[in-house]
Formats: sequence, C-alpha cells, structure tokens
Amino acid sequence: MKNIIIFGAPGSGKGTYSNEIVKRYGMSHISTGDVLRGEIKSGSELGHIAQSYIDKGNLIPDDLMISILAKVYDSPKGCCAAGSAATAGVIFDGFPRTIKQAEALKQMLADRGHEMGLMIELVVGEDVLMERLLKRAVEQGRADDNEATIKARFEVYRKQTAPLAEWFEREGIRHIVSWSEHPCMEQMLEAIFNIIDKEN
Ligand code: ATP
Ligand code: MG
Repeated sequence: MKNIIIFGAPGSGKGTYSNEIVKRYGMSHISTGDVLRGEIKSGSELGHIAQSYIDKGNLIPDDLMISILAKVYDSPKGCCAAGSAATAGVIFDGFPRTIKQAEALKQMLADRGHEMGLMIELVVGEDVLMERLLKRAVEQGRADDNEATIKARFEVYRKQTAPLAEWFEREGIRHIVSWSEHPCMEQMLEAIFNIIDKEN
C-alpha cells in the first residue's frame, strides 16, 4: 500500500476516515494529535510543553514536532520500522501542517527508501466544522474544543496549513474530496476509497 497523508481543517474528519481506512486496508495510523494527547495524559515533560501550545490553538514548533514524528514512525509500535511501512503503508493524520514539516517528511521517508504516496485533502466549510467541533466538545470533552480555541485553530489552519495544499499539488499527489460534493460520511468514504484503490 502507498502511504497516505490525510489533510484538512480541524474537525474535517481526518481521524474518523483514518480509522475506516485502517479497517479496510490494514494500514498503520499515526495521528500526531493523539500522540500529543497521550503525552499530556501521561504527564511527561513533552506533554507539558505540548499542552501550552494546544490550549491556545497554536501549533507545536516544527523542529520538536518533526523529531516526535520520526520517533513514532521508527518505533515498532507504529509498525513503521523500515520495511513494514513499505508493505502495509502508513496514514499520516495531522502531519504535516507546515511546509517545513512537509519537506522534513519527504526527506525522512526518502532516507528510508519510502515515499509520501498520496495526499487526500478533506474540504469542509467552516460553519459545518464549527458545528461538529462544538458537538464533539460535549461528547469527548477535548480541552481545545471550545469556541475561542476553535476559532484560533481555524486561523492557524488558514495561515500556516492550508497553503501547504499547493505544495502537494506541485508534488503531484494531491487529491481533493469535498463535503459539498459528498454531503454525508458514507459518500465521503466512498470517494476516499475510490482514490486509494485507483492509486494502488
Ligand atoms: P481534528 O482532530 O478534528 O482533525 P485538529 O486537526 O485540530 O482536529 P489534532 O490533529 O488532534 O486536531 O491536533 C490537535 C492539536 O495538536 C493542534 O491544534 C496542534 O496544537 C497540535 N498538533 C497536532 N499535530 C501537529 C503538527 N503536525 N504540528 C504542530 N502541532 C500539531
Ligand atoms: Mg484528529
């Protein structure tokens, strides 16, 4: 399987669709948000540092995030030790979020003889996203799912992450799936599976 980078704004469904992709294709899943929340929960020093950024809706600094990602990718638990990744493929959920992270990911994979594979961009309007995230706040109680922090995360996404879509376009691996064309989860998934099947 090719690696997949799942890309989109907060609440666009990166985690949800990643889980469905894992079920269908048996790939490994790396969610940097989940990794960071795990560190916070365990009370580690890294978690402590991460929390100060997450609570404000800001990104963790690139150098730190890149080193965390490489560590997870190479860990046996991530099933990504060179070799297995080449067969099962990895879903990158929430990474990269800046051009610097994207360049680093490309290099890290190249160093291991791997490729980025394909990027799937989830396009969903901010009004729909806000509604979903406020609902998730009630259901899951994530500390950064409150209206003020969500607005900050949208702003960070627009300024720092969205421009990255063009970078993937130039790499020739960008695939767009939009909620306006596929206005329910089943339809979104069908479109995503079609892309993956065609690319593998
Ligand atoms: P969703 O989980 O609904 O897709 P999201 O994209 O805001 O929403 P996560 O991907 O879980 O949520 O990330 C939560 C927070 O973790 C981010 O707001 C950011 O502070 C931090 N974070 C996660 N991934 C990265 C990254 N690649 N670079 C920098 N910070 C990150
Ligand atoms: Mg997520």
